[in-house]
Amino acid sequence: MKGLKLGAMSDLPSLAAAPWLKAPALQRIFAAIAVRGGEARVVGGAVRNALMGEQVTEVDIAATLSPDEVTAACTAVGLTVHPTGIDHGTVTVVADHHPYEVTTLRHDVETDGRRAKVTFTGDWEADAMRRDFTMNALYCDARGVIHDPTGGYPDILARRVVFVGDPGQRIGEDYLRILRFFRFHARYGEGAPDEAGLQACKRLKAGLDGLSAERIRQEMFKLMAAKGAVPTLMLMAEHDILGHLLPYTEEWRVLERLPPDPLLRLAVLARDPVAMKQRWRLSNHEGRRLEAIASLNPPTPALRDMEQKIVLYQIGIEAFEDLVRIAWARSDAPMDDPGWQHLLALPERWAVPVLPVSGGDLLAAGMNPGPEIGVTLRALEDWWVASGFAPGKKELLKRLA
Ligand code: ATP
Ligand code: MG
Repeated sequence: MKGLKLGAMSDLPSLAAAPWLKAPALQRIFAAIAVRGGEARVVGGAVRNALMGEQVTEVDIAATLSPDEVTAACTAVGLTVHPTGIDHGTVTVVADHHPYEVTTLRHDVETDGRRAKVTFTGDWEADAMRRDFTMNALYCDARGVIHDPTGGYPDILARRVVFVGDPGQRIGEDYLRILRFFRFHARYGEGAPDEAGLQACKRLKAGLDGLSAERIRQEMFKLMAAKGAVPTLMLMAEHDILGHLLPYTEEWRVLERLPPDPLLRLAVLARDPVAMKQRWRLSNHEGRRLEAIASLNPPTPALRDMEQKIVLYQIGIEAFEDLVRIAWARSDAPMDDPGWQHLLALPERWAVPVLPVSGGDLLAAGMNPGPEIGVTLRALEDWWVASGFAPGKKELLKRLA
């Protein structure tokens, strides 16, 4: 590892030209911290993605100053600072309306398999050693110079997810790292996963049972949103890891044919999709989507145009699109099939109409308040739908009489 590190170091590219690094907002933060005698560097996802040629979406900063010192340094130059995660050393600095998370260098002192107790340090190497994977432990300073204490650059080039240090020990500190191993492999990996990492994940998989639903859900949704999710899920199934997360189907072909939407993939992957609502503490909205998928009949291109419209009217755009995507994936039709494409695009070419009469209209027309209003309204709606949504308010009220 030491030899690799030296060899790689001389070959490290510069990120001096990267637009996100040159952003005046970020440079102001670097400068503010330097004025106070500290140093800040970009770390993690931004450096990894820049070196991989992937899009950089968020820029996280590591700093040698304590959170209080970072706050003082940035406030002194007129930046706004929020103490978002100050207990673990993170503050959010807003510069030019852009939020940057600034985290004081940390050093793990104690771990219980779920969360680490950390102390602050001025030691870049110690901060790198507590990170999960070598590809996530590179730093980029204000001038674009890359610092790579764990020798992660060759792994970035090879798109190989490799634990920092001994995989078994690192997993024992935080079992979520098993899921992160597969998540980063699905998103960034190429070829077979690192064998030592995979074996450690296999050996320690029982530790997954003690993780909170929220943490599992968060990593698994990110995994399932990745392009390479399905081969990775198959790998997790093959090594008896996926079963620790949920009872799953083996509809791999269908999963491959779905778009990279974690909820759609979960609806097909889970043997009991509705039960996942509780199991992974999904949001109400996610739960409703799963319930709709599980309980409604999917529309098909075999339906006539008006029948398709009636289904869309009755179940709404979201359930319609979810059901079409899953039914299409389950069918034998190719993914560029014109019939399925046309069906999926129905909400784009046809605006879902709204029933032109309301309860208020019925009252105004002389009906007495009471449950009969609702009954009548539904009867009118049935007639209106069966008439191809064509009758207007006048015709509906005439029918009432
Ligand atoms: P993404 O683009 O998916 O957000 P990321 O690299 O920013 O990727 P995060 O989950 O946001 O991933 O974590 C930020 C950084 O913090 C990681 O790059 C890694 O260095 C470190 N990290 C996060 N979670 C852990 C963990 N459980 N154990 C060790 N290090 C971690
Ligand atoms: Mg991140």
